[in-house]
Amino acid sequence: RAMIAEFSGFFSRSADDQTEMPLASLDIAEFRELAEGANRMITRRRKAEETLREYQEQLEKIVESRTRDLNLAKEAAEAASRAKSTFLANMSHELRTPMNAIMGMTSMILRQTGDRQLREQLGKIEGASKHLLHVINDILDISRIEAERMKLEETDFRLGSVLENLHSLTAQRAAEKGLALHIDVSEATRGLSLIGDPLRLGQVLLNLTGNAIKFTHAGHVTVRCQAGEIIDGNVTLRFAIEDSGIGIADEARQRLFTAFEQADNSMTRKYGGSGLGLAISKRLVHLMGGEIGVDSVAGQGSTFWFTARLRHDDDARVADTPGSSAELQIIREFLASRVLLVEDEPINREVALGLLEDCGLCVDTAEDGGEAVALAQRETYALILMDMQMPTLNGIEATRAIRAASLNRETPIIAMTANAFAEDRLRCLEAGMNDHLGKPVAPERLFETLLQWLRQSRPAQ
Ligand code: ADP
Repeated sequence: RAMIAEFSGFFSRSADDQTEMPLASLDIAEFRELAEGANRMITRRRKAEETLREYQEQLEKIVESRTRDLNLAKEAAEAASRAKSTFLANMSHELRTPMNAIMGMTSMILRQTGDRQLREQLGKIEGASKHLLHVINDILDISRIEAERMKLEETDFRLGSVLENLHSLTAQRAAEKGLALHIDVSEATRGLSLIGDPLRLGQVLLNLTGNAIKFTHAGHVTVRCQAGEIIDGNVTLRFAIEDSGIGIADEARQRLFTAFEQADNSMTRKYGGSGLGLAISKRLVHLMGGEIGVDSVAGQGSTFWFTARLRHDDDARVADTPGSSAELQIIREFLASRVLLVEDEPINREVALGLLEDCGLCVDTAEDGGEAVALAQRETYALILMDMQMPTLNGIEATRAIRAASLNRETPIIAMTANAFAEDRLRCLEAGMNDHLGKPVAPERLFETLLQWLRQSRPAQ
């Protein structure tokens, strides 16, 4: 009984129903029965706790293995994405290098010959290579966008210069088709100094204006741009490209901005085109914080529009590059200046050498980075043009070595390379280069860049 009394507290606490039991009034048999019941209950609870612990351990194991699987999957995805990027960079390099040779040689012979028939034939090679380069660029762009590797640059520019460039690239084709091409943008808007990616903005404009000219047989193509208010240093530009062309049927309109889609696949043969232009434009516009769309009436014309949010530069120092021959300016101002050309590929070396000599420059050539470093230890150059991928030392390593030695610490070094992506440019600048020209390099662009850097590094007089 004493024992019953002693345990009564415990049993009444540990029992599931907490009602006070009159334990003291039980006889031994009843107590035993009760104690056994309690025992069974405790055992059940222990078992339940054990099962729970087992479940918990199992769960932890499952979570651990899932985490491991996820990490593996993540690593595999990252490796695949790196492989894709490397592939794209290699592809870009492999495609651009021969294009540079073809286009460079063609333009070099064109500059040298007066033979009318030869000029006509070379003109055809030039036209075809430009077309091919355009397709290559589109395919690389869409692949980079899909691999999420497309980044925009941040540079100072004036909207006017993008529009002038657009005009110079499209006016001839519009005139050939008898179309009136207007770029209807106010002086105030043209004068806006902006920070953003002028090349990509120009690419969207060129694509939409090019399409407008392509799909219009008579009438006009008009490009408009309106700038919104400047809020917190940002300005939203709204562009519209209006044409009086064939228009687009309702059901085709939404599909157009998807890669590889054309309004009517049967038109491909008639008009050509990859069907990538609008998809690329859409993604670029999104990267610029904008929207893109089209209003159109079939048979009457279309208006493609897009917006872009860009930073407005209050204290802009953007100099307009002179439109007239940079080549002549170089001859006038820098005749016989000594420059170093570093290029391992023989045809590309010959092309660049020809262009540099046309400007009256004295050129030393190096076939790889090692040779470049050796030459730069003996001679101070007015400028160095540097390829990136080369045997022995690559362009980055060679630049670092040249910057570390004394003679050419201040010399402008310009990358001239088939590694033409924004991050390649960044790598060049980080290594101590001053600028970056993507191959194929148009002669005029090379001359302008040369002139700009030769002027900047000219010793004060
Ligand atoms: P591409 O012109 O290389 O085929 P795009 O993506 O630039 O590729 O254009 C996709 C399609 O949209 C074109 O094939 C054409 O059917 C239609 N399109 C684009 N712009 C216009 C326009 N201004 N007028 C009529 N149709 C157009």
